[in-house]
Amino acid sequence: MTDNFDLEHIWHPYTSMTQPLPTFKVKRAYGATIELDDGKTLIDGMSSWWCAIHGYNHPELNQAVTDQLQNMSHIMFGGLTHDPAIELGKILLKITPPSLDKIFYADSGSVAVEVALKMAVQFWTAQGQPQKTNFITTRSGYHGDTWNAMSVCDPVTGMHQIFGTSLPNRLFVAAPQTKFHEEWNPQDIAELEQAIQQNHEKLAALIIEPIVQGAGGMRFYHPEYLCQAKALCEKYHLLLIFDEIATGFGRTGKLFAWEHAQVEPDIMCLGKGLTGGYMTLSATLTTKHVAETISRGEAGVFMHGPTFMANPLACAVALRSTQLLIEQDWEANIKRIEQQLSQHLVPLNQLDYVADVRVLGAIGVVELTFNVDMKTSQQQFIDRGIWIRPFGKLVYVMPPYVITQQELSDLLEQLVDVVKTLQGAH
Ligand code: PMP
Repeated sequence: MTDNFDLEHIWHPYTSMTQPLPTFKVKRAYGATIELDDGKTLIDGMSSWWCAIHGYNHPELNQAVTDQLQNMSHIMFGGLTHDPAIELGKILLKITPPSLDKIFYADSGSVAVEVALKMAVQFWTAQGQPQKTNFITTRSGYHGDTWNAMSVCDPVTGMHQIFGTSLPNRLFVAAPQTKFHEEWNPQDIAELEQAIQQNHEKLAALIIEPIVQGAGGMRFYHPEYLCQAKALCEKYHLLLIFDEIATGFGRTGKLFAWEHAQVEPDIMCLGKGLTGGYMTLSATLTTKHVAETISRGEAGVFMHGPTFMANPLACAVALRSTQLLIEQDWEANIKRIEQQLSQHLVPLNQLDYVADVRVLGAIGVVELTFNVDMKTSQQQFIDRGIWIRPFGKLVYVMPPYVITQQELSDLLEQLVDVVKTLQGAH
């Protein structure tokens, strides 16, 4: 149960210090199992918010960290370089869109987004168009919690109301409406087209999570939206930024979500699963054209350089994690997870308080018609030996890829049972 010191002194994500939600102390985690302090074990359905793709305490990832520790855990990246950064870079360029050629390593997903936005502004300044400084995005997006990342999150479900005018004003259009498996509705792009047409002179880029809008609502939309968005960006001279921080590394059934549409962005952000969830690291990739233009600009350099840039420990484990993923038949494994998610979750559609059930790759979402009470449902999940953390109307699951068929069945059976009991609770 909740530790008193933790309760009184330590802030948890999006929580109050006067009415904190309970926290559960974890002693260790291995594979798809989380072991609590009291010895209770939970099957993990969250991958620690998308990132622990190979599960916890993976022998090969442990080894990669241990090996790198013998050399150095950190070294400044200004004026120095190292093999983990170089080898990781080589593999990233092999698996990301062919036109991406330059890599900027940073320390978290939000910072990767900041870097992407800064790249776009510096690019247009260097092109002699310093008025192109704003950004357009869709509603229901989520791009992180730092200032500018926040400014492009959904203005209603995001943090705009709290931070008000202190946030830069961005241009928002409706979220893509045509669902992933539906027939494309050409009207779906009309609002974006009109907004870009009217405002392109001051727009540096369109930023979007390809195919899956994550924390902004767990929505899966049609690939054609990205094809049309790309065409608009080309026509009206905007850069296209894909935030693949959540969707990357196999989660949607493709190695990266852009592949569903075969649309290449000018800038792409990676994070989360990059290190297999071992530590924090992100990468912002861009094209030769963008990088060279920025470098020819008045500043002559790209203006960013975090202290822990390309941290060697993080790069070493990211390298091993990425190798581990692509060495195996990850695609068949994600299919297996997808089929099991569908089999267990789709029948929930029959409940009158279930608004939608959707599955894509290793992501399963049950959307209810009411907000789930986090505190009671969390305890129910724990009592049943599973780790699921709902938010708003969404109960969702995105297990580590190492989860066995049996573990996933157990997890989903318990989840379904809890969803069935939620009816009376709202
Ligand atoms: N972009 C997306 C799509 C995300 O899901 C997240 C994290 N939830 C971020 C950016 C921010 O990443 P971080 O929490 O590592 O700063």
